[in-house]
Amino acid sequence: MAGGTQIVKRGDLEIRIVRNKCIGAATCVVYAPSTFDLDADNIAIIKNGDWDKLEKIVAAAQSCPVIAIEVYEKGRKIYP
Ligand code: SF4
Repeated sequence: MAGGTQIVKRGDLEIRIVRNKCIGAATCVVYAPSTFDLDADNIAIIKNGDWDKLEKIVAAAQSCPVIAIEVYEKGRKIYP
């Protein structure tokens, strides 16, 4: 997957990664390893499979040094 924004919606939850911002710091992967991963170019991607709990996903988004992760619940922006 190249740059741009990856958007994945699941139930009430929507996660976006603004991949052009991502610098591959990987703290999101540390906080929510079931939700985020790095691709071959060291840019974050949203994983398939079971995601982490919402608190972990938000913590991952908060940990991102470039605020590349956005989290929405029921269409409302939770972070940033
Ligand atoms: S924490 Fe932010 S900069 Fe680091 S890999 Fe995740 S999205 Fe990219």
